[in-house]
Amino acid sequence: MADTEGRDVRANQALLEVRNLRVEFPTRRGTLVAVDDISFHIDPGEVLGVVGESGAGKSMTGAAIIGLLEPPGRIGGGEILLEGERIDNLPYERMRRIRGRRIGAIFQDPLTSLNPLYTVARQLIETIQTHLSLPEKAARARAIDLLKEVGIPSAEERIDHYPHQFSGGMRQQVVIALALSAEPRLVIADEPTTALDVSIQAQIISLLKRLCKEHGTAVMLVTHDMGVIAETADRVAVMYAGRIAEVGPVEEVVRRGKHPYTHGLMGSIPHIGGEITELTQIEGAMPRLNAIPSGCAFHPRCERVFARCSVDRPELLSVDGAEVACHLYDDAGREAAD
Ligand code: SF4
Repeated sequence: MADTEGRDVRANQALLEVRNLRVEFPTRRGTLVAVDDISFHIDPGEVLGVVGESGAGKSMTGAAIIGLLEPPGRIGGGEILLEGERIDNLPYERMRRIRGRRIGAIFQDPLTSLNPLYTVARQLIETIQTHLSLPEKAARARAIDLLKEVGIPSAEERIDHYPHQFSGGMRQQVVIALALSAEPRLVIADEPTTALDVSIQAQIISLLKRLCKEHGTAVMLVTHDMGVIAETADRVAVMYAGRIAEVGPVEEVVRRGKHPYTHGLMGSIPHIGGEITELTQIEGAMPRLNAIPSGCAFHPRCERVFARCSVDRPELLSVDGAEVACHLYDDAGREAAD
């Protein structure tokens, strides 16, 4: 959105602003592009779901934001701003402080975030004391409160246990407590329930959602699961082959998704409370990074493909409250498709 002088006014209000982000991997045979010129924002307190099949670039985008891209992966272009401050070019130590204090992280496997050799108390208290200047006793009291808040029973005793003494679900509850311990403004949750028992996945997601609402924390929720997105997100970005295919409010994207890829993803979730219709699968697979198709990268799998799709790369266009990168939604494209 631009003001009367053409400045981007919404950018000033966004908590996180990602502009033209490119993530690349240099190889001996050339540079592979995993995230290709994507832009999006997250507002304070908002849950943005980022969805797509494996290899779409979702996790890579999250890793770039928190400064944890594994080498040789690197940011090859664009900017990432947190509360208006650029964070994509900070020295390691500055970024390490932002990670934890202002951006919390929750990964698929809770053991990525927990040190098996330390008690939960030590890990929580150290994190709290690193980011907030609290004496040990107050930090411990805060740690116990957080464990209670995430639903760990007998938190006063359990806090002195080691991670292996907790079940998988409880470990993820501890990780949520850890991620929220310094009251971050943003949490990046990357497939936070995928490794957990199906019976507790919904419980963890609703816990994450409730706590973030209560703490006013924004969430970038990365998942391949449209069901989780439908339950949790305020807005959704659908990614395909390193690009955003569609982004908009959850009801627009989930109920009235416009991009053919979004339709395909929607067809693969059962309708809660409704008849279980046969689940559709999108034919074919996400392209490899060294073989991204020309034009619209989805064209070899798209049921609505037409001549232009393999030649021109579609850019995001505003369509009925969402933004969609598909030639079907520009006039020239529609004419060609008819
Ligand atoms: Fe399908 Fe063409 Fe739209 Fe791509 S641009 S999603 S190939 S119709």
